[in-house]
Amino acid sequence: MTITLNAVYRARAAIAAVAARTPLVPARSLGAEQGLDVRLKLETTQPTGAFKIRGAANALANLSAQQARNGVVCASTGNHGRAVSYAASRMDIPATVCLSELVPRNKVDAIEQLGARIEISGNSQDDAQQRAHSLAERDGLAEIPPFDHPDVIAGQGTIALELLEDFPELDTVLVPLSGGGLIAGIALVLKAANPAIRVIGISMERGAAMHASLQAGHPVAVTEEPSLADSLGGGIGMANRYTFDLVHTRVDATLLVSEAQIARAMRHLFINEGWVAEGAGAVGLVPLLEPCDVDLGEHIAVVISGKNVDMARFQQIVAAPPGP
Ligand SMILES: *Cc1c(COP(=O)(O)O)cnc(C)c1O
Repeated sequence: MTITLNAVYRARAAIAAVAARTPLVPARSLGAEQGLDVRLKLETTQPTGAFKIRGAANALANLSAQQARNGVVCASTGNHGRAVSYAASRMDIPATVCLSELVPRNKVDAIEQLGARIEISGNSQDDAQQRAHSLAERDGLAEIPPFDHPDVIAGQGTIALELLEDFPELDTVLVPLSGGGLIAGIALVLKAANPAIRVIGISMERGAAMHASLQAGHPVAVTEEPSLADSLGGGIGMANRYTFDLVHTRVDATLLVSEAQIARAMRHLFINEGWVAEGAGAVGLVPLLEPCDVDLGEHIAVVISGKNVDMARFQQIVAAPPGP
């Protein structure tokens, strides 16, 4: 099954009542000296604080009436679960969210408050995923995957429709990358509009499953470690059906960033631009703050993918002196 551009336009209509059309704002502290025009796509302003509401709302909108009555289940590093529970409550669909013990408390609380049933099990995203599979089978629930699903990818692709409208000069988009639903949807649209637009994925050094899989030529597993970019944790699935191929064929480059670089990006975004982002949300800034091998062109959009960070932790990070 191929995911069409038309599916992304249908997703835009399907999610309009649940997800926000987010602002694109200039970032004058980034690249102005080199004459760059850098703008931030603020997915932090979504009602759940992250872009995943787009894919989740589209997947729920595409359920049959019977599936919607039975309810849905998902596994999540936090933001997907939050998105599914928010969209499900807006659409009156019962939801269960499976989390691993690595997910920060603030995210667990947020999901619970949205009315979903929570299941915590195991020490990795893969354990939570297993749990979601077995609940789907046992209770006849529709499983809403965090990234490897056509409706989820099409939902995330609506970001690129907005980018093309708001920033037709676009040369390059910098996109946080984990399982690849976000970047696959964006690349699908932008490469259809103009193959010369560069789409660049940014992952953390600690457990970059898509980067390792691209190098191997097939999906591979990586060891999960705690990171400031906790939302980028987890594998791409050994039985990956959609995102690996889309990223492989449509993404121009993938870059890896260190924990110190993630902290620096969060700090810069807050102190110089006034925006709060979680670690995963800020990684797209790194190629603009450090020397970068990839030519970015002149008109650059950075997807700031989420802001759901524990605020006490955030204050420590932005208060720390700049690292190496
Ligand atoms: C899920 C998530 C990502 C990565 O998205 P993928 O579709 O898995 O690549 C990036 N940033 C935030 C804030 C997220 O929640």
